[in-house]
Amino acid sequence: MTKQPEEVALLAESGRLLASVFGLLDRTPLAGRSTLEIDAMVERFITDELHARPASKGQYGFEFVLNSSVNEVVCHGVPSPSDVLCDGDIVNFDITLEKNGYIADSSKTYQVGEVAPAARRLVQGTYEAMWLGIAAVRPGARTGDIGWAIERHAKRLGYSVVREYCGHGIGREMHEDPQILHFGRPGTGVALREGMVFTIEPMLNRGRRGVRTEEDGWTVVTQDGSLSAQFEHTVAVTATGVRVLTLRPEEAGMLRRMKLAA
Ligand code: MG
Repeated sequence: MTKQPEEVALLAESGRLLASVFGLLDRTPLAGRSTLEIDAMVERFITDELHARPASKGQYGFEFVLNSSVNEVVCHGVPSPSDVLCDGDIVNFDITLEKNGYIADSSKTYQVGEVAPAARRLVQGTYEAMWLGIAAVRPGARTGDIGWAIERHAKRLGYSVVREYCGHGIGREMHEDPQILHFGRPGTGVALREGMVFTIEPMLNRGRRGVRTEEDGWTVVTQDGSLSAQFEHTVAVTATGVRVLTLRPEEAGMLRRMKLAA
């Protein structure tokens, strides 16, 4: 379950490239664009500019490079020409990228135009929950410490945590051990060791935590129709703590702030 420093370095390079994909999305006005247009734009960028491979395309029979999950869609939303983003939407883009055989995985929930305060608070709270989970990572900590940090913050804000999907080890394969649950009890679960690389990717709902999969077999929505948000980073356990391999430039210093808040 642990990786050599050379492998972590390769994963960090994939992570750095993937962070730049979110930089592209940050610069792109989203309102009025379909999620399929955005998928095509991201695919061109990954292949032509970054000379990398979109790892989700073809995985498990999925035909696209990203998952686009709008409003009450929890995860695994499928890009579509009829899915045109509107002012007030929240949309998560979940993207994987492979370079030199190593895969990085990250997602971000965007706010399209002017978003209602309740939606904005959910997005912000989910982002904080992810960072509090990341801040719990260090050698000797347990996976349950991560889940507990996330769940505690969600509860405090009155949100529920989706339990059906979890973070995962990652490397040459998109899904490796260990599983990282986004709920749990401190001091339980797998002990973290230097060289482990995995994702932390909590999904928080404004309403109840129940989800269902739509008839396309992919799109997962909240059962009660409430809004859902998600963020994801790929992280590595270091000798003394954690390194966020998919860190975006504007997130420098975030870990220190969240550790102080934890
Ligand atoms: Mg993932």
